Amino acid sequence: MNRVRCLVLNAALGPLDYKVPEGMMVEPGQVVECPLGPRAVIGIVWEAERLPGAEVPAEKLRALRGLLPIPPLPAPLRRLIEWTADYYCAPLASVARMALSSGGALKGPATTIEYRLTGGLPERMTPQRQAALEALEGEQATIRELAGIAGVSEGVLRGLVNQGCLEPVEVDCDRPYHPARPDFAEIDLSDQQQAAAGTIAQAVREGKFAPFLLDGVTGSGKTETYFEPIADALRMERQVLVLLPEIALTEAFLSRFEERFGAKPVLWHSSLKSTERRRAWRAIANGTAQVVVGARSALFLPYAKLGLIVVDEAHEVSFKQDDGVRYNARDVAVMRAAFEEIPVVLASATPALESLAMVESGTYAKLDLPSRFGGAELPEIRTVNLTEHVPGRGSWLAPPLVEALEERLARGEQSLLFLNRRGYAPLTLCRNCGFRFQCPNCSAWLVEHRFSRRLACHHCGHETPPPETCPECGEPDCLVACGPGVERIADEVAERLPDARVFVATSDTLNSPGRAAEFVALVENGGVDVIVGTQLVTKGFHFPELTLVGVVDADLGLEGGDLRAAERTYQQVAQVAGRAGRGSKPGEVLIQTRHPDAPVIAALAAGDRDAFYEAETEARRMAGAPPFGRWAAIIVSSEEESEARDAARRIGDARPRSDDMAIYGPAPAPLSLLRGRYRYRLLINAKRSARLQDTIREWLGALNHPDGVRVGVDIDPYSFV
Ligand code: ADP
Ligand code: ZN
Repeated sequence: MNRVRCLVLNAALGPLDYKVPEGMMVEPGQVVECPLGPRAVIGIVWEAERLPGAEVPAEKLRALRGLLPIPPLPAPLRRLIEWTADYYCAPLASVARMALSSGGALKGPATTIEYRLTGGLPERMTPQRQAALEALEGEQATIRELAGIAGVSEGVLRGLVNQGCLEPVEVDCDRPYHPARPDFAEIDLSDQQQAAAGTIAQAVREGKFAPFLLDGVTGSGKTETYFEPIADALRMERQVLVLLPEIALTEAFLSRFEERFGAKPVLWHSSLKSTERRRAWRAIANGTAQVVVGARSALFLPYAKLGLIVVDEAHEVSFKQDDGVRYNARDVAVMRAAFEEIPVVLASATPALESLAMVESGTYAKLDLPSRFGGAELPEIRTVNLTEHVPGRGSWLAPPLVEALEERLARGEQSLLFLNRRGYAPLTLCRNCGFRFQCPNCSAWLVEHRFSRRLACHHCGHETPPPETCPECGEPDCLVACGPGVERIADEVAERLPDARVFVATSDTLNSPGRAAEFVALVENGGVDVIVGTQLVTKGFHFPELTLVGVVDADLGLEGGDLRAAERTYQQVAQVAGRAGRGSKPGEVLIQTRHPDAPVIAALAAGDRDAFYEAETEARRMAGAPPFGRWAAIIVSSEEESEARDAARRIGDARPRSDDMAIYGPAPAPLSLLRGRYRYRLLINAKRSARLQDTIREWLGALNHPDGVRVGVDIDPYSFV
């Protein structure tokens, strides 16, 4: 082969052809340096027949500059990249970028200098040096990373190096991970667990595509169950990928994994240090990373010999990526397994309707774990009708819930109050003139965070300290908080149960694996009586002394026009209810609601999952919603309101006529301003048989817009804002 076609990592460019220099051997998947104008870009050698492009005469071709010292991207991954780009209407280059997501890893083997404490003390101690010495106990990292850990400047640490208190250590960037051992501490599974585990393990051994829905009630031991097929994959020297929805959950998972396999798995998520990232990437690509636990982005990494994929809490919304390439990791995981010809396990206590439909159609095999492990009973669920039991003014907990909390406190048991709202109050206004605090960059209210004394936008991160006077009318001390967030609920608990130790658990307080681990230890050691938390605490945690769960406002999720609102409410409440009574003591769940008769609330109270799924399935069928029909969204945005509106109109005017789809809009998006960009939306509701993606590509591809306009496509959208 003396010429090759490359997919270059620049979404604005199509495939490019290059000449292969004398003596260079290339094969598809190889990552190469491609000259482009005066510079070079990274490209991936691709099968030319799968990547149509303009034929350039041989004499015009420029020569590849070189091969990067990494293994070629395997064929199944190349097929996954093609499929993802095609299905989600995304540029191939943007998807391929997700596979090459560590710049450092592409440079080949390397060593680096890290520093650690020597135990020596400086001649002159300063408060900063003191703080650094305390904070860096047991740490080893680069100066810059240590400065971040210790919260001091790099200069302070360089001073400590000169004083001999910190010493340099040369480390191999690719040092191997501790091996996980399949037989380290085998677990006795219950009969139902064994049956499910055995079925999956057999599919692992057979090495063929097999999608499973592991449908197990909360506390049934889904994790222990899928550990067994993981052990089988390890015995076969195949790699395993476990996707978790929330990085805060990994800590509990890691310790359970280590108990079972004698070593930690390899972690992958967006806040890894760059050295950890390159080490993980290279170990994944050369096959030495045995088990990778990660966020959705771990799905596109170049595993050398994948043998099993597990998606835990597979119904979770956080598997849906809503910017850049908009994809659903749950669905892409199944496609990856298909291309790799391996089994994939979607584990959940509250599977998505779409997943159940796949079982119904015979595509997925369902494995059931109908009862909790060790004989624990599922909790008893009751509703508290807020129109009968009215909480007092400025309070949010109705008398029956307060009594239940008091009982638990008296018995020394723990309670969890769930409200999916961070901060103190979702809206702040001026009692004098009615002024409402809004984000300057988004059409959203600023949320008061009282612990950290700021008003913050949860969409763009804009923050401002709460002002002393109203910015509109100048009146002092006139700001009032409207509605509750978790911090406000915590205040109310503290007021009503002065002896209770309250912990607010949100992404603000559990923002690192370390903080999450401290929280788990605190609760396990009985240091907390009442946890007040957001959806972060609805899953994964296993606290045997926790016997009461209170859902502060079950109606919250049902507001707004989200087509999955009922399903999401069901899942969230069922998940958080599943935290109660996991040990030997029975659990109780109180759901505060103004609509106890709403089908989803009634089904929750009756513990009748099937009734809920049946009603919801019927509603979806009537609406032509998934899994019976399909949705897609087109989002048009610009910093100029008129530019966004005009572009959206042009798209609307060019809409295709088709009996297979209804196209709504354009209309201003519910979040009509986001991060400084004005947004318009079109929504497409298509029959299953429609050529949805091709139609969208042909439609949008024929239109040109000013440079400042972005047009995004969201296939199978979750968010309708
Ligand atoms: P789920 O994820 O299904 O809600 P977990 O995996 O958290 O349930 O399991 C619930 C609890 O039961 C955990 O503490 C887990 O360690 C324990 N457990 C489950 N299966 C077994 C088993 N076979 N042997 C010992 N402990 C188990
Ligand atoms: Zn904002």
